[in-house]
Order: sequence, then C-alpha cells, then structure tokens
Amino acid sequence: MATATEYDLIVIGSGPGGQKAAVAAAKLGKTVAVVERRHMIGGVCANTGTIPSKTLREAVLHLTGMNQREMYGASYRVKEKITPADLHQRTSHVVNREVETIRDQLMRNKIDLFVGLGSFVDANTVRVEGPVEAEHRTLTGEYIVIATGTSPRRPDGVDFDRERVLDSDEILHLDFIPTSMVVVGAGVIGIEYASIFAALGSKVTVVEKRETMLDFCDPEVVEALRFHLRDSAVTFRFGEEVTDVDVSSTGTLTTLASGKQIAAEAVMYSAGRTGQTDGLDLAAAGLSTDDRGRIVVDEHYRTKVHNIFSVGDVIGFPALAATSMDQGRLAAYHAFGEPAHDMTALQPIGIYSIPEVSFVGATEVELTRDAVPYEFGISRYRELARGQISGDSYGMLKLLVSTEDRTLLGVHIFGSSATELVHIGQTVMGCGGTVDYLVDAVLNYPTFSEAYKVAALDVMNKIRAVEKFHAEATARD
Ligand SMILES: Cc1cc2nc3c(=O)[nH]c(=O)nc-3n(C[C@H](O)[C@H](O)[C@H](O)COP(=O)(O)OP(=O)(O)OC[C@H]3O[C@@H](n4cnc5c(N)ncnc54)[C@H](O)[C@@H]3O)c2cc1C
Repeated sequence: MATATEYDLIVIGSGPGGQKAAVAAAKLGKTVAVVERRHMIGGVCANTGTIPSKTLREAVLHLTGMNQREMYGASYRVKEKITPADLHQRTSHVVNREVETIRDQLMRNKIDLFVGLGSFVDANTVRVEGPVEAEHRTLTGEYIVIATGTSPRRPDGVDFDRERVLDSDEILHLDFIPTSMVVVGAGVIGIEYASIFAALGSKVTVVEKRETMLDFCDPEVVEALRFHLRDSAVTFRFGEEVTDVDVSSTGTLTTLASGKQIAAEAVMYSAGRTGQTDGLDLAAAGLSTDDRGRIVVDEHYRTKVHNIFSVGDVIGFPALAATSMDQGRLAAYHAFGEPAHDMTALQPIGIYSIPEVSFVGATEVELTRDAVPYEFGISRYRELARGQISGDSYGMLKLLVSTEDRTLLGVHIFGSSATELVHIGQTVMGCGGTVDYLVDAVLNYPTFSEAYKVAALDVMNKIRAVEKFHAEATARD
C-alpha cells in the first residue's frame, strides 16, 4: 500500500453508511479507501449505539427472566444478582464479533482501511492523522463519501464525569447498576435505555421538555408503552426542563425548572445528537453544515460539491442504521453512474423498548388529518395461542386499511417480535397488496404472525357492517 494513493472512492467513517458505500463501490470494481478513527471500526452502530444497546437489552431480558414472569410469577429470575460484568461480557462479545465481521468484509472486498482522523485538504484530498505521526498520510480520491455520523448533544453547564453523569454513548461503561436513575430526553434512545434499566430494577425518572413522547408513533401504542413502563416503576416528567445536575461521591441531584429535585445514583442524557463534522475541515472542500453540524445533500446524496457525497446520520433524518446502509449503497451507485432505484418511501420504524414497538406506513393521526377514509382492525396477543405460549398478554397488532380500495395503509405493533413482524405488513404494502391477501393467507400456527389474519378479519367485519348498512338503506329507498 503506497503512502499517497489515488482511489476511485474515499469513504470517511465506517458505520453502516460508509461500509455499504465502500462495499458497493468495490463490487463495481472501484478502488476504495475507508478512513476510520481508532477503536471505532463499524461506527457508532457497532461500537456505542445500535449493536451494544440491542445486545444489552437481550442480556437483560435473558438474565432477568422478565419475559417468563407471566408463566412463573413476579419473583422469577434467571440470575439472582445481575452484575455489570454479566452485561459487559455479552455486549463486548457481540461488538467484537461484529467489528471482526466488518473488518473481514472490507478486506475481502480489497478495501484499504486507514486508521485515523480524516479531514479535507481540498475536494479530492483527505488527510489522515493516524494514532502516531508515522501513520499520518494523504489520500486522493475521485469521489468522496462523508459518513461520519453523529455524537450526543451535551448541554453546557452539565459536568459529564463518565461515572454518574453520562451521555448515551458512555452509558455502556457504567460500572454499577443504579438503584435509581434520571434519563433526560424521551426520544427513542432515552426510552430504550429507560426500559432496560427499569427491567434491571432501577427506579427511572424520564424528564422530557415536550408534553409527549414518540409522537410520530400510533398514540394507542405509545399509551400502552407508557402504561407498561409506569408499571415497571418508570416515572415520567413531561413538560419539564433540567436546569442543573449536581454530583457527589454517592449520587446526583437533578433540579428541574419547576423547582422539583430528583435524587438518583446516575443521570443519562439522551437529548439529541449533532453531526460529527467538526474535525473534517469541510471549508477546505467548499462545504459547510447547518447549525446542528449536518451536511445538506440532494436526492442522490450528493453535496453541493459535485464529487462529494454524504450519507447516514450526518445528513439527518431518519438517522437509522438501515437507512444509512441503503444511502451508502445508493451514493456509490450514483457516483459511478450505476442505475439505481430511489430509496423506498416505505420504511419501518423499530423501537427496542421493553416491550418493543414497530410500525410501517401511516398513523391514524395522519390519515385523519389528511381525511383519508380508513378502517382499523386489532389483534390482541392474549387471544393468540402463541401469545399464551410465550406469556405475552399485552401485545397487539393494528392494521389500517383504506375503505376505498382495501389497500393496507399502516401496520402498528406493540409487544413480542414487533420489529420482525412489521416486515410482513411492509411487504404486503410494498407490493400494493390489499387486506384480502391477509384474510385469505394460511399462516403457520401457533405464531405471532397469525395476528395479521385476526386483525384483517376484524377490519373486514367492520367494512362489511358498513357495506351492509348501505345496502339495506339502498334497498329501503
Ligand atoms: C444508543 C443508540 C441506539 C441505536 N439503535 C438503533 C437501532 O436499534 N436501529 C437502528 O436502525 N439505528 C439505531 N441507532 C442509530 C444508528 O446507530 C445510526 O443510524 C447509524 O450508526 C448511523 O450510521 P452512519 O453510517 O451514519 O455512521 P455511524 O455509525 O454514526 O459512524 C460514523 C463513524 O464515523 C467516524 N468518524 C467521524 N468523524 C471522522 C473523521 N473525521 N475521520 C474518520 N472517521 C470519522 C466515527 O468514528 C464513527 O465510527 C442507534 C443509535 C444509538 C446512539
């Protein structure tokens, strides 16, 4: 490998967006270099975000035996005293495996990996500052993809000590399981961690300055989640703002603008994220960011500089691993003129709270706002044999169906396997299918998938009742 090399593509950042851009370009026969900081191969996704948080959740669900308590009683535990070491063991095992897999994928595709901090010298040149001076180098590339992701937003005046006051990237290193905890921010990450710590037995207080949470989801599902979390000793403080966090050797005191004070052993901030663009020297390439460090791109992920693309969280919404991956692939295709479809508008949302939430398509609020006539059908897990077998009596699946042409408009799921099940609805919707398909489909029994059929029959019974009324009225006239 030469110290200054001409590449077809240089990718800065090896998270899902960067990886997939690099691999897609390599598959097109292009020479590719990826630049990534030390200990961060795989990005936020593999190291501090998606993968460790989902593994932690899995470890907590297993060790607490929480999902089995409907069967065996509230005192059921797989492990009596869960320690941070139990949790770290599983997360670091999975993270290491994932990083190895990504490293192997890059190698297999003959992609050169440069460890260090990348910054622009000009629109075709990237300087890499390696961990030691001997590893500094300059790379030139015809095209460049910026996939540098985000970092947690930290409010001024809060002393993040990495011990008791932490942000969502640091929380994985908490070396004790707090008996009480404040979570600032009721976004997806805040709610996921609030439910994980509540499952571990921590008394969690969630402070959120807005009056609601997850308001892009179905309100009925969010209500069910709030009920469930309250039942696990989570307290919500909506419409409240944190003004101060004091730390002592034994705990923290969070003061709210309303004057309330909350004593807790730890505080986790998950109050938004900003683009990691500070160190990139974007100006040298003719680029700039918005006030949250994000890069503006067009529908092909191209920035205002023709040969520079940007993908993933650093370009903003929806800031998910799945979308970042596809943006990366598409950016590489667009750069090298490979024909590609636009990214589908039909994207599922998954929230790995306990219980989990997932949906695809429209919400009832949106359909009502847009005056789209629809009918809904619900299946409750407690009425499914699989729900009984698995001990999930709270889960539910809701279908929203157009009363004009019976197409599926939305699927909203709360409970076991929600993030997997949603893809059935997504596939039907993606293929323009109607509720009739779900009514007629024969599904494995006993499964959670059966919820689709039950909900579809529920919708059809309601549609039929309305049609019957109209038919009788016509006959009377
Ligand atoms: C706690 C948490 C849980 C999440 N859970 C989910 C989930 O369940 N499902 C889901 O779809 N998404 C989830 N996400 C979001 C998901 O992690 C992101 O959408 C995804 O990681 C974004 O990918 P990316 O390609 O933008 O890069 P990122 O994964 O953000 O990685 C960017 C990389 O760029 C590197 N970098 C930055 N600047 C430079 C530089 N100057 N030089 C070299 N390298 C640089 C960084 O070191 C980093 O490794 C979660 C996020 C968090 C924080």
